[in-house]
Amino acid sequence: MIVKDPLWEEIEPWMLEIRRTIHRHPELGLETPHTQSVIETALDLLGISHTRPIAHGVKAEIGPKGDNAILLRADMDGLPVTEIPRVAFPSEIPGRMHACGHDCHTAMLLGAARYLKANESRLTRPLVLMFQPAEEGPGGALPMIESGVLEHPRVTQAAMIHVSDGLASGVIGLREGPAMGGCDDFAVTVHGKGGHGSAPHTGVDAILVATAIIQSLQSLVSREQDPLDPLVVSVGTIYGGYRENVIADRVEMTGTIRSLTASTRKRAVERVREVVEQVAHLHRAEVDLTIDVGYPPAFADIEWTRHVKHILERELGTESLTNIAQPTMGVEDFAYVAERVPATILNLGIVGQGFTTGLHSAGLLIDEKALRYGAAAFAAVALGS
Ligand SMILES: [Zn+2]
Ligand SMILES: [Zn+2]
Repeated sequence: MIVKDPLWEEIEPWMLEIRRTIHRHPELGLETPHTQSVIETALDLLGISHTRPIAHGVKAEIGPKGDNAILLRADMDGLPVTEIPRVAFPSEIPGRMHACGHDCHTAMLLGAARYLKANESRLTRPLVLMFQPAEEGPGGALPMIESGVLEHPRVTQAAMIHVSDGLASGVIGLREGPAMGGCDDFAVTVHGKGGHGSAPHTGVDAILVATAIIQSLQSLVSREQDPLDPLVVSVGTIYGGYRENVIADRVEMTGTIRSLTASTRKRAVERVREVVEQVAHLHRAEVDLTIDVGYPPAFADIEWTRHVKHILERELGTESLTNIAQPTMGVEDFAYVAERVPATILNLGIVGQGFTTGLHSAGLLIDEKALRYGAAAFAAVALGS
């Protein structure tokens, strides 16, 4: 069993030191130079070659040359959250925190890299390590892909780990099929015609038009969508009007569309556009609509996920594996990788003895004992495939 290899006694403290270094210096979005230098220094120490596909991303390669590579991915960025310190190595940058565990993801992939470099002769396929910034936005996976991270060597299967606040420390949850949501945000401006509140017939009431649009959007989920295929259409903001006796000439709204499959996502975006435009015109108003295309839904390839589960049962023990029953409407930009090659998502439990709050919260406490399981899982996928 890989997880029982005595080599982890050496790797674990090294990996935890890396995690703590990154935890002290959270960086946001695409600007991750410090984290990048930590990664590159570690890879140099291990004698692993690496490149920068984008300014602050890192691609590293281990194992034999050729194609049919496996890609393992870690994200690097933190969040604009002020940490409530519960560890001896809290964030040293005010207003920033590794509140989504990406410090652990990067450290675990480096831990796996060290293990795999020591076992390089056992690798039967080329291995690509992808360290990407900006998972929390604006997205680092897509620019990395556009810079060729899935080519030379050609990647044919991929895996990532995300820490989970819903599983016990060291337990890995897998799910086949639709795993995480897609997200598209929209902004609507309704242009009516102003007038006196006592003479509504002289204007076009943008507030009435906006309410008609909101009502009609609700029917997309309740009347047009298969209840077994989830869809969310939410209007989150609405602004408009001047005072009680003025017909509003303008209303602005924003909202979000969440879906789990590519086909539902495509149809929902089209129908939101039709409903907004046609309901506005029905009420004699003009409308501007922008749809901000976000991360696609993440699909875990069924065959590849089953294969990975078998490997992990063998190398970590069946007690370390569990099935994730429900998908989540949370988003993940690894979905861009999953759109292109069979991919799987490993959810690593981090809930230990001390109480932990949820991911993205200022009091997040990660049980570091979990990291050995995550790193061993990465290594097992690379060696066992
Ligand atoms: Zn997050
Ligand atoms: Zn995250």
